[in-house]
Amino acid sequence: MKIVVLKFGGTSVGTIKKIKRVAEIIVGYKKKNYKVIVVSSAMSGATNELIKKSFEISDNFSDSEHDVLVSSGEQVSCSLIAGRLIHRGYKSRSWLSWQVPLLTVGAHKNSRINLINKNKIIKYLKEGGIPIVTGFQGINSQNRITTIGRGGSDATAIMLAKFFKAERCIIYTDVEGVFTTDPNKLKKAKKIRVISYEEMLEMASLGAKVMQPVSIQDARLNRIDIEVKSSFIKTDLYKAIAKNYQYLHWEKFFDPMQPNAFHLATKSKHRKRWPNEYSLTPFYYLNFLLEKNPTTIYDLGCGDNSFKKYI
Ligand code: ASP
Ligand code: MG
Repeated sequence: MKIVVLKFGGTSVGTIKKIKRVAEIIVGYKKKNYKVIVVSSAMSGATNELIKKSFEISDNFSDSEHDVLVSSGEQVSCSLIAGRLIHRGYKSRSWLSWQVPLLTVGAHKNSRINLINKNKIIKYLKEGGIPIVTGFQGINSQNRITTIGRGGSDATAIMLAKFFKAERCIIYTDVEGVFTTDPNKLKKAKKIRVISYEEMLEMASLGAKVMQPVSIQDARLNRIDIEVKSSFIKTDLYKAIAKNYQYLHWEKFFDPMQPNAFHLATKSKHRKRWPNEYSLTPFYYLNFLLEKNPTTIYDLGCGDNSFKKYI
């Protein structure tokens, strides 16, 4: 089975208009004969609104009820996506994580998906259905709803890709891949074509919001290649990039001790750490020169030979 996992972030499903566009993206993969598994986040702002409500109820709101509450955002977006696909004549339905189920371990608010029961989804895919799975959540051994940390839908997508042995795992977001810098500062922010898990993890930890750090660890452990694409039309792109990358700046500098290596300095406005220098392997610099779609996060290994195939 040629399976693709498509994950849509909160901004991609932020309005009804955008959800309709997401449905067209899904239809595109279906037409290319993929078996499509969709993962969606809540509509942008929805999770924050729910958390706000919990604070208004109690400043010591129960962790297990927190998970029940905040997981509801994904229920809304998933049913809207499925509803649109049905409207377009496709077989689709929402799958809440407990219906699959996606089993988690660990504490409420910060669980990890450790097992996915594939049977029902496989049967559904074989019948031509498009399952729309709620990101960011699961069910634990006590039958309670759990969530897997803010931004956790990325990890849901990666674990689905792992368990279903997906051919591709594509993260749709509001930026068209991973970028080197803030386009407000440089005339042209360069898209990174390939990036290692380690570098992506570093960027994510420094504030590049494009992916959740935990999900990159999951991808690395399971050797899942990730593609990052935009679900937006081009005109929205620069605004979105500026928003996501305002805290992250990359600069190339020359180190006389290692004249053949390219070094990058990162500065997180957030943490006011500057200079904060990282010596990265030359393949990173190559990414500056290559500007192709989409960014793929690969296990490049380290050492000079690893990037040759990308030249
Ligand atoms: N909706 C959740 C959040 O806002 C999960 C996600 O977006 O990935 O954190
Ligand atoms: Mg996210």
